[in-house]
Amino acid sequence: MKTFNLGLLLFNLAIVIYSMPISTPNEKDEALAETYLKSFFNLTEETGPAVRRGNSQRVKKISEMQKFFGLQVTGSLDTETVTLMKKSRCGVPDVQVGSFSTFDNLKWQKNQLTYRIENYTPDMTVAEVDDSIERALQVWAKVSPLRFTRIYSGTADIMISFGTRNHGDFYPFDGPEGTLAHAFAPGNYIGGDAHFDDDEYFTFSSTKGYNLFLVAAHEFGHSMGLSHSKDPGALMYPIYSYTDPRTFSLPRDDVNGIQFIYGPNPDVNPNPGKPDPTPPSTPDACDPKLVLDAVSTLRGEKMFFKGRFFWRSYAQSSRPELNLIKSFWPELPENIDAAYESLLSDKVFIFKGSKVWALDGYDLVSGYPKNLKSVGLPRAVTKVDAAMYDEDSSKTLFFVGDSYYSYDEKKKKMDKGFPKRVDVGFPGMTSKVTAAIQEKGYTYLFSGSFVFEYSMNTRKQSRILGNSFFLPC
Ligand SMILES: [Zn+2]
Ligand SMILES: [Zn+2]
Repeated sequence: MKTFNLGLLLFNLAIVIYSMPISTPNEKDEALAETYLKSFFNLTEETGPAVRRGNSQRVKKISEMQKFFGLQVTGSLDTETVTLMKKSRCGVPDVQVGSFSTFDNLKWQKNQLTYRIENYTPDMTVAEVDDSIERALQVWAKVSPLRFTRIYSGTADIMISFGTRNHGDFYPFDGPEGTLAHAFAPGNYIGGDAHFDDDEYFTFSSTKGYNLFLVAAHEFGHSMGLSHSKDPGALMYPIYSYTDPRTFSLPRDDVNGIQFIYGPNPDVNPNPGKPDPTPPSTPDACDPKLVLDAVSTLRGEKMFFKGRFFWRSYAQSSRPELNLIKSFWPELPENIDAAYESLLSDKVFIFKGSKVWALDGYDLVSGYPKNLKSVGLPRAVTKVDAAMYDEDSSKTLFFVGDSYYSYDEKKKKMDKGFPKRVDVGFPGMTSKVTAAIQEKGYTYLFSGSFVFEYSMNTRKQSRILGNSFFLPC
């Protein structure tokens, strides 16, 4: 059984209400960290005189974990690290450093595989479980030569079952939350099998509980020989986050991973008239052509939105941390249009289309989304390109096409004389403003991959910068 250690992949799905506890680690956190590092980073037992030596091992393992998740490597249990340890995740260890990774030489020597669903969860109907499992396997079949046939008796390559606590292997489940499932790398006997922790609540289409299709698709990646990826956009990232299963598309990193092992799908006609949608890839802060969707501050942090993702940059972080929007706020939309922090109401407003959402710290404010009318914009405006709170005038500026509006939040009124042309208020700004932010007496207007710096009081353009000015890579 030892040999399966590496092959054991647990996909832990947890919708985590993200808050920012500011505290030093307590005993509970220390215990959590020990279990976490033992389970996922191969921290070994420390007893007796070895404890002192073990301390350095503990620091090393914390550092390893911080590196894997792109956190600041401090070797200590800081708030960020403890918060991440509390997120639900896959039970398979995180033992690699690249993006996608594979278990050494563990792959199926055939492309035709069988699967069998041994039992069912009471959370869902039989038809819903069958459908979720089938679609989860097809995620991999679509981009590889692997094909799956269901059998109803005997031993299949991939045996699928639901169980709780001790369930017949040497890897007991942990009750609700925490580990959601695990799967074994390709091989005989238990190899390829996938087990789901039935102390979780599995769902078919709801955003509540854990979506079985998403958990299963991750686990089957392990069944095919993929290990965890450190790309937060990848399906093989160890932490669960909700994505709409109806629009799910296997991300680039996972496609690269499975095709590295098995090659592409030979049945896909390279020119079918309708090209395959390009797998979604994770944005790269180093890409000089990167065009951000929106930029905002949040109580001293900066947030840079792009597609399904946002980077957080805060004083203590050496480099910005990339996260999925959905892993922080399942209810917020992706591909947002604009965002700004109101220093008056101490809220962050997020815009997409004709709707606006509000955040109080990291918490979604109830009663939203509201219509753009709620921020005083005329009915004709159906979309905002950028928004910014102007400290100089204490007004909120909304950029729409080549114009901008000035809104008085206190009086809840749009200022007279607006909309104005952007290049009247900001001389030289002739292209569309896509994001806006203020810092240290300067206004920064983003347009495409450029950032135009204006002095806050003189409104004179002083410099033209790149994204890397705020978002180092
Ligand atoms: Zn996993
Ligand atoms: Zn198991």
